[in-house]
Amino acid sequence: MSSENKIILEASGLKAEINGAPILKGLDLCVRAGEIHAIMGKNGSGKSTFSKVVAGHPSYAVTGGKLEFFGEDLNELAPEERSKKGIFLGFQYPIEIPGVTNGAFLRLAFNSIQAARGGDELDPLEFDDFIREKLKLLKMDAGFLDRSLNEGFSGGEKKRNEILQMAILEPKLSILDETDSGLDIDALRIVANGVNSIHGDDDAIVLVTHYQRLLNYIEPDFIHVMEGGKIIKTGTKELALELESKGYDWVVDEYKAKAA
Ligand code: ADP
Ligand code: MG
Repeated sequence: MSSENKIILEASGLKAEINGAPILKGLDLCVRAGEIHAIMGKNGSGKSTFSKVVAGHPSYAVTGGKLEFFGEDLNELAPEERSKKGIFLGFQYPIEIPGVTNGAFLRLAFNSIQAARGGDELDPLEFDDFIREKLKLLKMDAGFLDRSLNEGFSGGEKKRNEILQMAILEPKLSILDETDSGLDIDALRIVANGVNSIHGDDDAIVLVTHYQRLLNYIEPDFIHVMEGGKIIKTGTKELALELESKGYDWVVDEYKAKAA
């Protein structure tokens, strides 16, 4: 990707804590329009914390460094403002809301973002037409829309629904945290195809993943290894294969040797 492309997300020296426990300890990451980044790393390295800090999860306090979205300080913005400006976080464990239909939820989310962007809000019938195309993209049945949000959805259905949300909201930055977890190979392909067709030159995607297999279907421009609340190595897609075969310890050793 061209280094001329607009910077969408920039973190530098980012520090954050939860309940007084420091988790992010000086994280640097620059994401430009048109790019796909993968963040990999061991369990507990801080990947989900970073995702939640970008989304503005209230349990986390940013204690240092810079975190900007299109040059604007994110720390000033409430989570819903971030989402209106185009930040989308797909959850590792999507919440279930009995009694709220998926279709109603999606329309509400869409309309609130449309209002923020100065676009037209859609009534239920218009939204129905709009969403039909998106459903096809993810090979989802229209019956999905009448069910309670995520209630009784299989793992694969929850993930497809998450990508459906993304397709509808057209975010500028999508952070997908362990979107591959619990997916069989068919669901993985559908989710990956969905992400690939939503992604374009004006938006960026950050995939947080533990495994290489999603990266067979969604090709990242950069792979980052996270450890101890920092990004300690950045490479291209070949790095993912190396991590798959050799694990993470050599990267940590290399980093420690450099720091010493
Ligand atoms: P990852 O997604 O890479 O597996 P997380 O961001 O979920 O890692 O967790 C990073 C670290 O933060 C872990 O060591 C975890 O134990 C710690 N952590 C998460 N939640 C809390 C909390 N509420 N209080 C203290 N530490 C926490
Ligand atoms: Mg995690």
